[in-house]
Amino acid sequence: MPELPEVEVVRRGLERWVTGRTVGDVEVLHPRAVRRHFAGGVDFAARLAGARFGTAMRRGKYLWVPLNDASSSLLGHLGMSGQLLVQPQDTPDEKHLRIRIRFDDSLGTELRFVDQRTFGGLSLHECAADSMDGLPDAIAHIARDPLDPAFDDAAFHTALRLRRTTIKRALLDQSLISGVGNIYADEALWRTKLHYDRPTATLTRPTSAELLGHVRDVMTAALDQGGTSFDSLYVNVNGESGYFDRSLDAYGREGEPCHRCGTPMRRRPWMNRSSYFCPRCQRPPRTAS
Ligand SMILES: [Zn+2]
Repeated sequence: MPELPEVEVVRRGLERWVTGRTVGDVEVLHPRAVRRHFAGGVDFAARLAGARFGTAMRRGKYLWVPLNDASSSLLGHLGMSGQLLVQPQDTPDEKHLRIRIRFDDSLGTELRFVDQRTFGGLSLHECAADSMDGLPDAIAHIARDPLDPAFDDAAFHTALRLRRTTIKRALLDQSLISGVGNIYADEALWRTKLHYDRPTATLTRPTSAELLGHVRDVMTAALDQGGTSFDSLYVNVNGESGYFDRSLDAYGREGEPCHRCGTPMRRRPWMNRSSYFCPRCQRPPRTAS
């Protein structure tokens, strides 16, 4: 599944390749890809035609492109396997091409939404009231992500202290902090020596600050590694991307020695996913939930 750094790479690609372009015609090739556009595919295509793309924005794993005067936006979510590709018009259609957006210019490229599993999609939304950047109303409840300059560290710490939850659940709670997926949560918890079931009410301010710092470091490192793939015609994200494999300390390392203490790493089922941790560096809380 694409995580925040991959989505940011896609955002940068969109910023570079489609900003300022005006939509010509739109083809919806699979209804599931526009299921979040409640008025349906015909309405989606009709409303998007003629719109001028602003600069792509991102909040967590959601992308949007403000349209015209930013009174509405094109919202995209990549789901499990979605890709946004800027392709030459004569490139053969991808097998799982779901939406094609042509532009009313002579640049010779078009925007394609390709999605094998169709958990992702595109939709059009009004912008949230008081939004300065065209934030779609449909995602106004999504918290800012930790790489957002406007993310409020103090408010995050206060929210952690007030919630009756555990730290990994909190990291994946999009209303608290967005864009932290399973991989980044495990990596940041390992770096902070925190067990995933640690109650958030027990976290001190220095510990939550250290954790946020590690979340940012892990994401920034991933962005740096993935940051070259958009420097081409492709605005591409591959859900099975291996950008980070060589630098992971926790995720996927069951049975391998902890990079800090050598103890074999463990994996535990966790909310239909897995948590990877070092049983020595990341001690379970005495009153694990
Ligand atoms: Zn260890």
